[in-house]
Amino acid sequence: MFIHDCLGVNSAGHLTIGGCDTIELAAEFGTPAYIMDEATIRARCTAYRNTLRECFGEGSMAHYAGKALSMRRIYDIVGEEGLGIDVVSSGELYTALAAGFPVERICFHGNNKTDADIEYAVKNRVGRFAADNREELDAISRIAGKAGITQKIILRITPGIDPHTHKAITTGDIDSKFGSPIATGQAEEIVKYAISLPNIALCGLHCHIGSQIFDVQPFAGAARIMLKFIADMEAKTGWLADELDLGGGFGVRYVKEDKGIDIASAIRELAGVINAECTELGIQRPRIMLEPGRSIVADAGITLYTVGSVKTIPGFRTYVSVDGGMPDNPRYALYQSRYEAVIANRAAEPKTIHCTIAGRCCESGDLIGENMPLQETSRGDILAVFVTGAYNYSMASNYNRLTRPPIIMVKDGKSYTAVRRESFEDLTRNDL
Ligand SMILES: *Cc1c(COP(=O)(O)O)cnc(C)c1O
Repeated sequence: MFIHDCLGVNSAGHLTIGGCDTIELAAEFGTPAYIMDEATIRARCTAYRNTLRECFGEGSMAHYAGKALSMRRIYDIVGEEGLGIDVVSSGELYTALAAGFPVERICFHGNNKTDADIEYAVKNRVGRFAADNREELDAISRIAGKAGITQKIILRITPGIDPHTHKAITTGDIDSKFGSPIATGQAEEIVKYAISLPNIALCGLHCHIGSQIFDVQPFAGAARIMLKFIADMEAKTGWLADELDLGGGFGVRYVKEDKGIDIASAIRELAGVINAECTELGIQRPRIMLEPGRSIVADAGITLYTVGSVKTIPGFRTYVSVDGGMPDNPRYALYQSRYEAVIANRAAEPKTIHCTIAGRCCESGDLIGENMPLQETSRGDILAVFVTGAYNYSMASNYNRLTRPPIIMVKDGKSYTAVRRESFEDLTRNDL
């Protein structure tokens, strides 16, 4: 009935997730609430871990990109599953350290790390930095020197690949705030510069071409360009890349029309291309890393809301307003992202209306979606929006002084709170 395995409908006609009745969850934990299925998250981790190992052996691994969803419990889970993680700020690093995440499996990313970020990460001995630019290399070299260590880094390179996704989530193009382009010669310059600096060990190269990508072909294209560049650098400098990190970006199915990408078969297909290319170039295959964010957590999550007003403007549309909106899910406002939703207490009934699902904020753009098929609904119903596990909680705000929803995890028909609902006291905690 649903495209996501963790969802179902029980004999009461209620939507279920991970074997839990969503109406009971809404009654127990209140709304809005993020609900996440732990088994789905673990299954995605397993697919990355096992397939990377199968195709490339030990040492190749996935780093979960914590920006998709950063909280202590998620770091516990991906840590137990044997993945590494990427962090992009001292705040994400702090959260991972608070969860006891093994530091050697942490990579610090971002296009503009501050000295304070670098000092904090060096002090805590993070495994790697993905360095973006010269200024950062200088700062890492200096700060590592002061700490008396040699810091492992990888360098972010832009291969010049357009993955045909939304512009805001395209990142591997030449004209990008991220990394150094191969095409302009800047990538070569920065590799040489990195090798020349003290207290830095350049382990490999990194690229990330974008997000919500359903085809293997752009990843294969990026891999070929990066491997050629690695061979070229070896010839010119003698430096051998031990590691090639191909970033994240595997897409997930938000709506039925999204074609989806199977993690295991995509990695296997990519491995074929990488192995053939390495043979042709006569280079030793580097360890292959991936950085999935969305594809680990997105479809494990749903958001539950309570329906408030249902307003039909004759000749125009029906607005179904809910008790959350852009503060807990800004993705429609940012990218016109599409979602599927159901009335959770009537999940088995056919969808007979098309409506705009609106949030409760004082912004016309505060929408969850437009022209969405839905069951007939009225005040007090529970609305479930699917596939909200990634880039929802992590992008959430307190706009209009709304408190951020809790994250309730479900597992084998049981539930537990991973993040509690913010209180009014939380809202004024920093007000002096
Ligand atoms: C955003 C990002 C990721 C994760 O992307 P997803 O589309 O969520 O898989 C991985 N690596 C880098 C460098 C990123 O910026």
